[in-house]
Amino acid sequence: MKYISTRGKVEPISSKEAVVRGIAADGGLFVPKEFPHLDISSIDFDHVTYQELAYEVMSLFLTDFCEEELKNCIAKAYDDKFDNKMIAPLAKVEDYYLLELFHGKTSAFKDMALSILPHLLSTAAKSLGEDKEIVILTATSGDTGKAALEGFKDVEGTKIIVFYPENGVSSIQKKQMITQEGKNTFVVGIKGNFDDAQTGVKKIFTDEEFVNRLASSGYKFSSANSINIGRLIPQVVYYYYAYINLVRMGKIKAGDKINFTVPTGNFGNILAGYYASKMGLPVGKLIIASNDNKVLADFFKTQKYDKNREFILTTSPSMDILISSNFERLMYDVYGAEVTSELMNSLSNSGCYEVQSSPMLERMFAYGVSYTKEVAGTIKEVYDKTGYVCDTHTAVGVGVAKKYRKNTGDDNSMVVVSTASPYKFADTVLEAISGESEKEDGVLVNKLKAISGIRIPEGIEAAISGKVLHDNVVSVENMKSQVAKILGI
Ligand SMILES: *Cc1c(COP(=O)(O)O)cnc(C)c1O
Repeated sequence: MKYISTRGKVEPISSKEAVVRGIAADGGLFVPKEFPHLDISSIDFDHVTYQELAYEVMSLFLTDFCEEELKNCIAKAYDDKFDNKMIAPLAKVEDYYLLELFHGKTSAFKDMALSILPHLLSTAAKSLGEDKEIVILTATSGDTGKAALEGFKDVEGTKIIVFYPENGVSSIQKKQMITQEGKNTFVVGIKGNFDDAQTGVKKIFTDEEFVNRLASSGYKFSSANSINIGRLIPQVVYYYYAYINLVRMGKIKAGDKINFTVPTGNFGNILAGYYASKMGLPVGKLIIASNDNKVLADFFKTQKYDKNREFILTTSPSMDILISSNFERLMYDVYGAEVTSELMNSLSNSGCYEVQSSPMLERMFAYGVSYTKEVAGTIKEVYDKTGYVCDTHTAVGVGVAKKYRKNTGDDNSMVVVSTASPYKFADTVLEAISGESEKEDGVLVNKLKAISGIRIPEGIEAAISGKVLHDNVVSVENMKSQVAKILGI
């Protein structure tokens, strides 16, 4: 299996190289040259564990990792760091299923991929004879940062630098990051929003002069953002897993189509669902759930991607994104490298682009918006009817799934992807359910515990009582000099 760039200007490379490089030299993203097939009938439905399924799926993409290497990475990633043996369990709520992806160390779905990426990366770097220290440079809208910090903490041969929007993350998300331990971890706030952070990081990555300076000091950049193909591939696994579990529970027959609604920001999670469907998983529709920053929903309505609009801070901050970087991979898949290069040039020059409509996109995807003003109502409604407490991002998904069903009458089984623990956004969730507003995080999570009856995740307790170890905040212009300072170059 070879990997090529969405902009078509680099030679095909192996999966190990693609994981280590993170982003292609032509500014594009790595994508598999073709898609492997995994028929559900070839899977041992009754017995397969998450880890075994992860091997079946990932070995089809990461063909230059030997069996032992890949199984090792999987075993180190999906172990008792997760507080649920199933890793990604399904919960039946009302007339849909929630695929709970928040049982990892930092209580958000980013753990699904970032628990394994550091192992894939260090395995690949070692076997490619990489002698430079790898510097992971990451922009975060709140959840990637913490999950990456935990994943790379004290991993030999790596340093990790995380930039987060100073005022664009929840109080608990911020505490989780600024209390981060580990000798090789650096956390920096920026005066700007997530798009500023992400654009800044991309700029540093492709700054040739800076990259050369880095190399002469013995460093090399890589990325933990979902632009790294090593993050996308592990996410394909849980789409298969959800399907298998519905069959096991007797809710569907093998071969039936099911729908997934995915709360979407950078388009990484839902793209993995699309890749699963290309591999042969029986998927009816993939439903994009947007919050107020609805660039993607608007794209599907108008065929025009337009980021020239107000950036709105919502109660689902991990989806507050106007430049969905993984959308480039979908554009590549539909329109090819030449058109994609033009679209991305247009995006960086004028902030927008337009395409011809595509029957495939219309067949495969649906979309909907759940605004901040609706989210609290959704959380309360679900709680009142079932006692289940969901987080704000999941509530965007639930809201959109309900609208989709009502508008279309499509009665395929519906899986809504649940992307975070309610404790990460405890203030909004508590207020939605009880009407109480509480500023003190410690008190807040205890109140939420009394309502939900769910254990407070260890990592969240630790963050609330932890010591602040990172208090740097810089302007967007100073991101590069901050990196230089941290690395002493
Ligand atoms: C990152 C994130 C999302 C959005 O996922 P994408 O892959 O960026 O589309 C949704 N919800 C939560 C809680 C997240 O952390």
